[in-house]
Amino acid sequence: MFLWRALSGALAVSVCLQAHGMNSALQCSLCQNDLESISHVLFNCWPAREVWEIANIPLPSHGFTDSTNDNLAFLLKVMSNDSVSLSIRMAIPWILWGIWKHRNEVLYAGKQGDLNALVVHAIEEAELWNKLKETQPQPPLGTGLNARRETRWVKPPINFLKCNLHVSWLNESHMCGGAWMVRNHQGDAVFHAREMFLPASNRIAAELRGILWVLHSLSDLHLDNIEIWSDCHAAIDAIIDLSNWPRYHSFLDKIHRLISSFGKIVFKVSSTKANAIARAIAASVTSDGRGQSYLASGGPAWLFSRIEEEKRR
Ligand SMILES: [Zn+2]
Repeated sequence: MFLWRALSGALAVSVCLQAHGMNSALQCSLCQNDLESISHVLFNCWPAREVWEIANIPLPSHGFTDSTNDNLAFLLKVMSNDSVSLSIRMAIPWILWGIWKHRNEVLYAGKQGDLNALVVHAIEEAELWNKLKETQPQPPLGTGLNARRETRWVKPPINFLKCNLHVSWLNESHMCGGAWMVRNHQGDAVFHAREMFLPASNRIAAELRGILWVLHSLSDLHLDNIEIWSDCHAAIDAIIDLSNWPRYHSFLDKIHRLISSFGKIVFKVSSTKANAIARAIAASVTSDGRGQSYLASGGPAWLFSRIEEEKRR
């Protein structure tokens, strides 16, 4: 994120502030020697020069230029250069960020940070981050994303239950409607439930809330060996690879805590067609205003013929 901001000219240095019409002295406040551009702060001002020297990585033969793009392109090459120690080249993004934070601390907090400590800290942060990425547990949540999408509903394997779930989300100010239905390997509905939820900021947040609700219900009912099918691809992706979805980490943490109480649970992506019954029940909340929540055994009577039809296939 930080590198992207640096490349996009989205850091609050004088040159960028002036370009956006803000009245700001162009001179670098740290050295009073040059224009305060992004490239100057990250590569050419005295703290930056000192940091790059301490880091002891190969630098461009004629020094860094005035172009942030060129300088970062150079550093990206260093990052894949095997002759440079791995821990230091992996730390390059953190070093850049450290230089930026150091500049802000000097200017706005009156601190005079230790530049050696900055480099050590960058290396530690990078190592920790890489370690966390490596050891990120790959939960045994199955094959949701790779599985071939079912175009129509199919019975689960013997000894497995299949839970179809949907949360109907219209917009960020409208109440959401959630529904799930569990069927056995013969295609018979075992339980189903409907719930009205408070508005959610988007479809993914709504679906994750629905998944949390399903897991609570299934756990209360002591149901296990279960497949959970949602037609919200992103929500299933977030559950399987949570590191990509930091925005939803509080939902995902709760979901994973519940998952660990099940013996066997698998998440899968459904087509909208194969999820049609859960969609119909959920939509009855948002389009027909049926706000009453319930949990019932079997399936809803008004969908009886559709459930029977799916069972016959
Ligand atoms: Zn300077």
